[in-house]
Amino acid sequence: MTARNRELMREQYERMGISPEAYAYGEEVLASLRERFARIDEIAEYNQLKVIQAMQQCGVSEACLLGTTGYGYNDLGRDTLEKVYAAVFHTEDALVRPQITCGTHALALALMSNLRPGDELLSPVGKPYDTLEEVIGIRPSKGSLKEYGISYKQVDLSEDGSFDYEGIRAAIGERTKLVTIQRSKGYQTRPTLSVERIGELIRFVKEIKPDVICMVDNCYGEFVETIEPTDVGADMAVGSLIKNPGGGLAPIGGYIVGRRDCVENAAYRLTSPGLGKEVGASLGILSSFYQGLFLAPTVTASALKGAVFAANLYERLGFAVVPDGTQERYDIIQAVTFGSPEGVIAFCQGIQAAASVDSFVTPEPWDMPGYDAQVIMAAGAFVSGSSIELSADGPIRPPYAVYFQGGLTFPHAKLGILKTLQNLLDKKIVYIK
Ligand SMILES: *Cc1c(COP(=O)(O)O)cnc(C)c1O
Repeated sequence: MTARNRELMREQYERMGISPEAYAYGEEVLASLRERFARIDEIAEYNQLKVIQAMQQCGVSEACLLGTTGYGYNDLGRDTLEKVYAAVFHTEDALVRPQITCGTHALALALMSNLRPGDELLSPVGKPYDTLEEVIGIRPSKGSLKEYGISYKQVDLSEDGSFDYEGIRAAIGERTKLVTIQRSKGYQTRPTLSVERIGELIRFVKEIKPDVICMVDNCYGEFVETIEPTDVGADMAVGSLIKNPGGGLAPIGGYIVGRRDCVENAAYRLTSPGLGKEVGASLGILSSFYQGLFLAPTVTASALKGAVFAANLYERLGFAVVPDGTQERYDIIQAVTFGSPEGVIAFCQGIQAAASVDSFVTPEPWDMPGYDAQVIMAAGAFVSGSSIELSADGPIRPPYAVYFQGGLTFPHAKLGILKTLQNLLDKKIVYIK
């Protein structure tokens, strides 16, 4: 940067409430991350090409961006988009729909349509994401798999995060029909799985029982690496369009990519036996799905850079961060442990203050249904609840950790993190020398 531009930048940050000290501290941290960011950009470049190639091969045309109404028979845009997803994920088929309301719905759909009464579901990577507990029936719930006579087994990861191969071998039985593997740690402390490790696990499972269906919960993992779980043997990968693959533009939706028979089962369950993929009007939503997918690789890269910046900045200030500053990343979530409620609150209020929507709101901890502690959430999103946009949340209980993710552009993620730093400085929770 030229001296003149640096001065302009410092002034602009100051107008937005970032002191010269906080700005300088951020710049020092960033100076050490150039190589790291270059590698993230390389992955984004590769994935960008992968997406463009898929769109070209599938013959995406202007007509695909239009929508249908009513039954939605012969919806060219919808059918072509599903071909594009199948091409990006190297699968036989895909179901990508606005009628899939969220990630949990997509996962529930994939499970409920491919399991039958008497079958057993196995998670070899420990407890699945919170909302799936009710889908499976770990927590009693109306309409759960358990109510339909589908049982569930779980094998936890070993203490050091490795797979408990002997436990998994023992858990696979006559009735085991589907194995669910969650890529991202979600809001737990276990490590996120790399696609390579997911591949090792799938190979192990298939050696024991070749016909078992291996499904990966791909939420938060899309485009973080150059390969996806479907490149290493997953029969299905499932996720939400208001996370990575929607690129911040998709206002709703979920996807299931995978083997033709698995996707077909899901389609007959989503709509109706006999109708399957043939119905489901796309209304006017498809251009945001196409353009969102087009942007997804670079948007994911921006979120990743934000996570790496936050990890390094807070690590340097002496806080425990997961993943740590140098660790390889397999999802976009960053945890920072503050050890005090004030730290969590100041961080979240900083993120909120950096938003372009609702920046004037001050988030406070509240009793959120389904949680055993108060929770504070910060988000000012163009798409409500979208966690590919700059957002943070944390339960107000020990160890007082905050989970941070998203950022449609890196400058926005950077502003957010500098705002959190400034807030913590103002409240004398942290000091920079
Ligand atoms: C977000 C998420 C889900 C659920 O998605 P929703 O869209 O919030 O329903 C499931 N699994 C993981 C790992 C997630 O990150």
